Amino acid sequence: MKETIGVLALQGGFREHGAHLRQCGIEPVYVKDPDDLAPCRGLIIPGGESSCLRRLMKGFALDSAIIDAVHSRQMRVWGTCAGAILCADEIIGETPCLSLIEASVERNLFGAQLASFTEDTAIPGVCDTPERFVFIRAPGIRRVWGKTRVLHVTRDIITAAENDDVLITSFHPELSSSLSFHRYFASKCGVSIQNSPDQTWAPTSWMTLG
Ligand code: GLN
Repeated sequence: MKETIGVLALQGGFREHGAHLRQCGIEPVYVKDPDDLAPCRGLIIPGGESSCLRRLMKGFALDSAIIDAVHSRQMRVWGTCAGAILCADEIIGETPCLSLIEASVERNLFGAQLASFTEDTAIPGVCDTPERFVFIRAPGIRRVWGKTRVLHVTRDIITAAENDDVLITSFHPELSSSLSFHRYFASKCGVSIQNSPDQTWAPTSWMTLG
């Protein structure tokens, strides 16, 4: 069985993550069922709606399967936006879901849908030159503790953090032309990548970036 990276494909932006992985030379597995996790060295939990994803994960018994894979064989996890909410040990005002990283997140901390924004920024260790990151009704990371390291801060709010197994980002690298975070996550998973150039993002779904 060839090891690869999975993308949780129950709801939200899973196709865009899959397209970015393919650009890195990785054929993703779209995870809809616990058995789909078997070849996955890592799993991306996409943005979408965390309350909906939470319900669907539970319905398909994927929440316990993901937790088990992280603890039993160190499957790596990257949560983007709603995915980050689901990974956190603490969700302000709600019960935690997967509890995979020592971080406290607050939903919609950057405001409502109309307050969505982009930020051009470099993140040392991930991308050395500025790239565009997209925040859509984004959560913020209020604090981290224990083994969690802060990777990035936007408007005085932590927006990217990680421990050895888990990466969380408030924003959506899959909605820009940047492959940096997908390459970074692949190296965290120990999955080899092709050094394909970043491409101009040609959205086929719902969003156009200027
Ligand atoms: N606001 C959404 C939530 O709380 C997340 C939005 C997103 O993933 N872009 O689930």
